[in-house]
Amino acid sequence: MSEVKAIGISEVKNMINPQELSREMSGLMEKLFPICRSITGNGSRESLNIIREHIPITLHEVPSGTKVFDWTVPKEWNIRDAYVKNSKGEKVIDFRESNLHIMGYSIPVHERMPLSELKKHLHTLPDHPDWIPYRTSYYRENWGFCLTHRKFMELKEDTYEIYIDSTLEDGYLTYGEYYLKGQTPDEVLLSCHTCHPSLCNDNVSGMVLTTLLGRHLSSLSLRYSYRILFIPGTIGSITWLSLNEDVVKYIKHGLVVTCAGDPGMSTYKRSRMGNAEIDRAVEHVLKHSGSPYRVVDFSPYGYDERQYCSPGFNLAVGCLQRTPHGEYPEYHTSADNCDFVRPEHLADSFSKYLSVLNVLECNRSYFNANPKCEPQLGKRGLYTSTGGQSHAVSDQMALLWVLNLSDGQHTLLEIAEKAEMGFDRVKNSADALLNAGLLSISQRG
Ligand code: ZN
Repeated sequence: MSEVKAIGISEVKNMINPQELSREMSGLMEKLFPICRSITGNGSRESLNIIREHIPITLHEVPSGTKVFDWTVPKEWNIRDAYVKNSKGEKVIDFRESNLHIMGYSIPVHERMPLSELKKHLHTLPDHPDWIPYRTSYYRENWGFCLTHRKFMELKEDTYEIYIDSTLEDGYLTYGEYYLKGQTPDEVLLSCHTCHPSLCNDNVSGMVLTTLLGRHLSSLSLRYSYRILFIPGTIGSITWLSLNEDVVKYIKHGLVVTCAGDPGMSTYKRSRMGNAEIDRAVEHVLKHSGSPYRVVDFSPYGYDERQYCSPGFNLAVGCLQRTPHGEYPEYHTSADNCDFVRPEHLADSFSKYLSVLNVLECNRSYFNANPKCEPQLGKRGLYTSTGGQSHAVSDQMALLWVLNLSDGQHTLLEIAEKAEMGFDRVKNSADALLNAGLLSISQRG
């Protein structure tokens, strides 16, 4: 790539215009939101092609029937139209009004039936009578419609015409992959799911955030290589892992990106290891973010971290989100829309992700080149001679911590934690000491 500039993540973070970023995120979100996606099908392709306008992802097509560990790539599902009409010919449920009206993977149907029969195929949320639920039936051939409970209560005894113009046949599972080559083959994995229809926080927010992270990373000179995956949930990560076992050994750190735009606080779900560098990096960034946050231990339920952290892989992959799935009432309903996700929350998540990646990129250990007693900082311009300034004193504290723990055994993140300082401050001190010839980079990393 010819445009690689020798600047790092912290510099690019300062260069980002928050208004412009919010505008760009809203624009991409509104383009992706209306598309009827599923774990396979043209909705996924259309979404990936929109993402390809921002970053050069490669689209992979894996044939139905491919064995992926204990699973099989399913048939490809596509839908063109679906409705329920009453005997007057009025559409009482119409897929064209909301793609959540159709249960994902519904088989083609064209028949008439009484209300009692139709009801067996209808899904509602009595507790939220104005919201449409999101339902799927990927691995059992079935059909169904989802509607508001209010509309459901209005349905009268009648003979209804059911029409589902879908196909479920051999085809492909489509996923997108973007590999950014860094200075080392060691990789950071960013993975988001692409399989939900019009659901904004659970799905679109992750795709938007991941796309823009990829775009910004692509303009930088990076230490790590980055692998960015846009895959259908569960079957997508299982498929990718199954087809890329030779690549897995390069993945040193990873994050599953989802639920990035709701108003809730940031929540970090640790990797299965629990104390990997990615876990410590995210926890450090959240602790110093100035806003409330939550850290939870790994559990074998949630998003694709379930697969990356299965015991046969046990990768250092956590999940950085805001409110976790199932913990906000809008989850998997029509209320998870573009009003629920706000650009300012997306931008806040974006900034935290960049901070975490910056820690990973810059987290090294150093050797103190002058380890016998403290070097004289004043004569190197590293210490202001005006005493009593609290700022100068605190910077000196950072310099002293870095000098003292630069024994090749402590990384900057470990120093920042011991010193109870933000990573950037410790990193800036290390840069100043390196420039003054007082540090050398440890081969350990
Ligand atoms: Zn979901």
